[in-house]
Amino acid sequence: MIDCVVENGTVVTAEGSRQVDVGIQSGRVAALGHGLEAGRRVDAQGCFVFPGFVDGHVHLQMKVGQIMTGDDFESGTIAAACGGTTTLIDFTENCRGDDLAEWVEKRHTQADGHVAVDYALHLTLADASVGTLRNLYRLSEAGYRSAKLYTTYDGVRLADREFLELLAAARDARVLPMVHTENDHAIAYLTGRLLSEGKTAPKYHPLSRPPLVEAEAANRVAVLAGLVNAPLYIAHLTCAETLERIRAARGRGQGVYAETCPQYLFLSVDDYDRPGFEGAKYVLSPPLRDKSNWQVLWTALKEGELQAVSTDHCPWDYATQKTLGMQAFDKIPNGAPGIETRVPLLFHEGVGKGRLSLQQFVEVCSTGPARIFGLYPRKGTIAVGSDADLVIYDPNREVTLSQANLHQRVDYCPYEGYRVHGYPQTVLLRGQVIVENGQFVGKVGQGEFVRRQVSCAY
Ligand SMILES: [Zn+2]
Repeated sequence: MIDCVVENGTVVTAEGSRQVDVGIQSGRVAALGHGLEAGRRVDAQGCFVFPGFVDGHVHLQMKVGQIMTGDDFESGTIAAACGGTTTLIDFTENCRGDDLAEWVEKRHTQADGHVAVDYALHLTLADASVGTLRNLYRLSEAGYRSAKLYTTYDGVRLADREFLELLAAARDARVLPMVHTENDHAIAYLTGRLLSEGKTAPKYHPLSRPPLVEAEAANRVAVLAGLVNAPLYIAHLTCAETLERIRAARGRGQGVYAETCPQYLFLSVDDYDRPGFEGAKYVLSPPLRDKSNWQVLWTALKEGELQAVSTDHCPWDYATQKTLGMQAFDKIPNGAPGIETRVPLLFHEGVGKGRLSLQQFVEVCSTGPARIFGLYPRKGTIAVGSDADLVIYDPNREVTLSQANLHQRVDYCPYEGYRVHGYPQTVLLRGQVIVENGQFVGKVGQGEFVRRQVSCAY
């Protein structure tokens, strides 16, 4: 009956750890036990067996102006797989005035048949037009259960009135609103002032978007969500100031979820002081913060105040694309790669240094985002009936992170030279081995679009 058994490993879920074999049939977990009979056996001796990791925030094959991110759906999902991520959520990436349904189709054309892992799409809500609202209800039913809203960036920025209309509509359609929170007016003012003073280098980027610029927008959006009784998911939370505002909203009884990203746990404002133009590699938004925030974010992850770690993977080549901002930091394409390094970094610094238990690590990298984005229990756990997305993780394998040995299609690694203890050894996607000894052995096109359930926020 059973096609394959993953044996001799320690199965770790968000609930607990146990020495048990995993029986797989037709791509799903069919049994957990001992002495399971099967034709194919995968040995996990000395390893952890984790549920496939879920990255709820990535940008693949994204065009901004005239330039395209280094990773397309193919290279980005291969990199994700090698790093232990078996499900990711990208965006429809439409702008104000665009037909949302058309962009859903367009993104499917780009991704379907070209992905190495399973994927889903957040709807981008770039205006509150009748067409957008009508599409929202229909697309929710079709399994697009979350949407991205922006307080900044030309083409996607929404006014407060539009936020209220869209948050209310999302609530009615049971779509989870995920918001990029930075005060656009403050950024424009501070950027203008810095540039007029001749402060054009990458190191001025964080001064154009300080912590309160993020915290103010998070607070405002949380207040607006409270007015219409909508749940909220804050994207890439970076600092203590924003965390405080979220706590206040929760104190008012609101359902507010939030993610952070590895770059805010491992990198800091000091990286902008790298020699020459190298600081541009770290120009992403919201920007890297003072190191004092690292402890704040780790504690928030440990205590469940932050529910997810995603990457906001958005790779631009240093040599040819970041250099567009040579004359002015505000012209540097915003974003950095991270789709492949998230899990090893979190395991090394989280579990390895005792900042997170194994359960907490699985919670923030897999189970939490799976629940929040309506993928659970198909994704995010190892249980009978769930997809057999498994990461056989060797806790003793040491790897030096480097652009040279990663699969992300971009000419640098923000963590170049960082040595991690523990790395994915074998990765299974719905029962098929797609990564072996750190190399992709699966087939592109094997990944499937996942129709999602309503978020646990509702
Ligand atoms: Zn993003």
